[in-house]
Amino acid sequence: MNQSEVLEILKTVQYPGFSRDIVSFGMVDNIQIKDKSLILTLKLSTQQKDKKEVVVKLVKEKLESTGAFDSIRIESAEGAPTSPQAAAQIPQALPGVKHVLAVASGKGGVGKSTFAANLACALKNLGNEVGLLDLDIYGPSLPIILGISEQPKTTEDRKLIPIDYNGIKVMSFGFISGNETPTIWRGPLVSRMTEQFFRDVEWGALDYLVLDLPPGTGDVQLTLTQKLRISGAIIVTTPQDIALADVRKGADMFRKVQAPILGVIENMSGFNVSGKIEGEIHSLSIEGNNVDVDEDGNFSVRMNVFKKGGGLEESKRLDVPLLAEIPLAQELMETTDSGKPITLSNSDSPISRIITEVARKVELQLED
Ligand code: ADP
Repeated sequence: MNQSEVLEILKTVQYPGFSRDIVSFGMVDNIQIKDKSLILTLKLSTQQKDKKEVVVKLVKEKLESTGAFDSIRIESAEGAPTSPQAAAQIPQALPGVKHVLAVASGKGGVGKSTFAANLACALKNLGNEVGLLDLDIYGPSLPIILGISEQPKTTEDRKLIPIDYNGIKVMSFGFISGNETPTIWRGPLVSRMTEQFFRDVEWGALDYLVLDLPPGTGDVQLTLTQKLRISGAIIVTTPQDIALADVRKGADMFRKVQAPILGVIENMSGFNVSGKIEGEIHSLSIEGNNVDVDEDGNFSVRMNVFKKGGGLEESKRLDVPLLAEIPLAQELMETTDSGKPITLSNSDSPISRIITEVARKVELQLED
């Protein structure tokens, strides 16, 4: 019997008085197996001696009944969580999901959902099993971006079955609430809904679950960062918003829960102008910048609409990489608004290549 088989058995042991098991409470610290002997280290509260004894007895009985071990030793780890309540505050992994990737922004309208959807498709194109969860409770946009009007079904044990979108498992508040955005939802209700949305969905085995967070640092983000272990966060911003305090607040929020910030995406970062010059030409300059023209007269140049280099400056200040500068592009807007993300509908376009490059960087940074 190996470690993961033992872990599966421990998942069936409930902590007395709670409906959750000891693994989901983070109480299993270490499993050592050598031939037919097992040493299990549990992090159990020292104040609740009687419960501790019950857990140890339950665990021992379960493991003994397998007949796989001649000797079973159960030890206590130092620095244990003081109670299940305290353990419940420690961010937990989602079973079956290797990496949870949060896409956040300081404010709305910067292209966060567009990027999240395209990143999910790019990760899928690279051969990953991918899920996409729209947690934007007040303005869910994934149903539009992906052109989905279906309602999710539920399993017998009342778990939501995500919608299959080109092999990506998608779930959104919008599938359930339709156009009636519950703008009056506040505090505890939002937190409860959020938790249900990542726990009570049948995600299955995923390499990446991409989360499209609502803008800012409100209730949803707080619940999420406190309860769910996030492998990495990406912050999307535009050149003119890059120095906003909101972006910094977002970065601080992830840092507080030790969720690594993989980097910043500067979206709507200028626009590309390309063309062809007929006839003889010596040099071309646009707005004071020299532009390279190849032998056939083709040229391409990025024009800035707002401030130049803001993304790089801010990413240095926040001490996180600038992952990409995505230009303003009509095709990105059109594909997004017509429900066909560009990384799927035209995976060879320059924008798709930029986003695929980000997906590769994510793979590299989160490699097991
Ligand atoms: P957010 O999730 O930050 O509120 P959205 O992803 O909904 O923003 O994008 C807002 C609008 O901007 C959408 O209509 C989208 O198509 C458009 N958009 C996003 N990024 C770009 C871009 N780089 N070029 C052109 N339009 C874009």
